[in-house]
Amino acid sequence: MEKRKQLIVISAPSGAGKSTLARHILSVFPNFVFSISATTRKPRPNEVDGKDYFFVSKDEFEKLVKNNELIEYEQIFDNYYGTLKSQVDKNLEEGKVVVFDIDVKGALSIKQKYPSESFLIFIAPPSIDAIKERLVKRGTETTDDIEIRLSRINTEMELKDRFDFVLINDDLEKAKEELAKKITEITNTMSNSG
Ligand code: ADP
Ligand code: 5GP
Repeated sequence: MEKRKQLIVISAPSGAGKSTLARHILSVFPNFVFSISATTRKPRPNEVDGKDYFFVSKDEFEKLVKNNELIEYEQIFDNYYGTLKSQVDKNLEEGKVVVFDIDVKGALSIKQKYPSESFLIFIAPPSIDAIKERLVKRGTETTDDIEIRLSRINTEMELKDRFDFVLINDDLEKAKEELAKKITEITNTMSNSG
């Protein structure tokens, strides 16, 4: 049997559905914890500091980088996002399974630093048009921001073969089911989704 994976990294181009699927996984595996990243982005109306992200200033973020407190970080859409070492190491020591919702490059950095503990999942959209439609419908970005997000897709899609598992998120219910099944296999943990 393969080693139990504790770091489940869910990654995808923006709008492919990674946050929706990561939330689903956390709801059906109640013992799993979410890796709360630090970011310089401003909170969206429904977001809570310390739950969705640690919202920090640019100065505070630079301090985290300087003090070597981040496992990886990326500049994405004019903001900085990074994974906190303290969070990950504490959860690993406690034997917890950690779910990450991070960008494609960040995911590959996690694999490099934790090759035997991590499992990388790439959420692929059924098409570029589907992503565009989802981002417009989600309504959290301006038209310009959506264009910036779309401009990154091709580079991100090219990296999908370096992931451990690629899941096409077309029918959402099917994708949720397939993902929960895969995660049950790799973590040896049963989900509550039946
Ligand atoms: P990401 O975190 O990858 O940027 P989200 O999870 O926020 O993407 O999904 C983008 C939007 O698309 C959200 O409004 C979400 O409800 C919707 N969505 C996610 N998966 C599907 C799907 N399979 N079919 C249709 N809409 C979807
Ligand atoms: P959003 O602003 O939509 O919350 O996130 C923008 C992008 O940043 C998403 O692709 C998200 O997965 C990614 N992201 C969030 N946290 C981190 C992190 O700690 N590291 C990296 N590399 N990407 C992150």
